[in-house]
Amino acid sequence: MSSREKEYGFETQALHGGYNPKEDNRGSRAVPIYQTTSYVFDDADHAASLFALEEEGDIYTRIGNPTNEALEKRIAQLEGAEAGLVTSSGMAAINLTALTLAEGGGKIVSSKYVYGGTYHLFSETLPKYGIETTFVDPHDLDNWEEAIDEETKFLYLESPGNPTLDVVDIEAVANLAHKYDLKLVMDNTFNTPYLSKPLEFGADIVVHSTTKYIGGHGSSIGGVIVGPTDFLLKARTEGYRDTGPAMSPFNAWLFIQGLETLALRMEKHSKNALKVAKWLEDHPQVDWVRYPGLKSHPQHQLAKKQQRYFGGMLCFGIKGGFKAGKQLINNVKLCSLLANVGDTRTLIIHPASTTHEQLSKEEQEAAGITDNLIRLSIGIENVEDIIADLEQAFK
Ligand SMILES: *Cc1c(COP(=O)(O)O)cnc(C)c1O
Repeated sequence: MSSREKEYGFETQALHGGYNPKEDNRGSRAVPIYQTTSYVFDDADHAASLFALEEEGDIYTRIGNPTNEALEKRIAQLEGAEAGLVTSSGMAAINLTALTLAEGGGKIVSSKYVYGGTYHLFSETLPKYGIETTFVDPHDLDNWEEAIDEETKFLYLESPGNPTLDVVDIEAVANLAHKYDLKLVMDNTFNTPYLSKPLEFGADIVVHSTTKYIGGHGSSIGGVIVGPTDFLLKARTEGYRDTGPAMSPFNAWLFIQGLETLALRMEKHSKNALKVAKWLEDHPQVDWVRYPGLKSHPQHQLAKKQQRYFGGMLCFGIKGGFKAGKQLINNVKLCSLLANVGDTRTLIIHPASTTHEQLSKEEQEAAGITDNLIRLSIGIENVEDIIADLEQAFK
């Protein structure tokens, strides 16, 4: 990266970062798709030195690809990280990070307010491979500290957390991690680097599901890890190379298209969500609203400090519990009922009757899911249309 690129503002980096048309691609203004599996070596010695990692260069798309590299460099630049690695999904990014940091087994200390897939990976799957997780209340530093022991390999958090939208003090948890010489890994999917850059608050490694806001269009599944060069080199040449969670170059290209308008979209998502949140707060059929941009949110001040805007995710409790929740989602017309977030379109779900239906009452409670909780991922439609749709569904 040239020193000038580093000084560019976010929107400029999102359009130009990590790619030079003249140097890289015969002047092609758009990043081209390198839809290839492999790359021709100059000769036998060249091939040998690439395999021995003595020289940098392309070998095979499972290990690296020029389109993927443009996306990796661009997201790393936007997060203020040294390097990046794109993966086939957000879960692949989280799993690879865990396997690389907790090599040989060990313990993760994680916030309990994390994405459902992450919760399951940490609580059910990784223990089968000798990696155990202690889940803690992310706002209680003593809780984090008590859970750390000799076996601990890294700390993990999400902010705003899923689905309760708890905003966690990144700096405080990072300081604690560093006190014990541990790394703090953070899932920044809900904020994206436009709203908040966890590395600036002391996090060491950031993961994303690019499936969500970075792509924005709900067309592809993908993930990314950004952080220190040595960590990512290890991840790429060991776990990534051996287990195969590479991103398809075509998907990398789609994510680049999305990333270029990320700033515009996040601003609009945030403005729309704030309007909907305020409208819901005044609605007679609504019990409570959770949105980091509302003064009533318990970590509103912290959200103001850590985030540029408050994002597109909100949740609320509908009066009438489980039945009313189901009825509401059965009656929306514009909002799409589905299990995704961060789409340009408004999405709605009632977790108690869908994503978290298999959990026991206790498990649901532990995850912050109440019977009346409705999660909304507010899109970039005209906000009056979103409100009108909810209004007719309430009726
Ligand atoms: C969706 C999501 C993931 C998982 O990403 P996939 O791309 O679906 O594998 C992880 N964390 C958060 C916060 C998510 O929203």
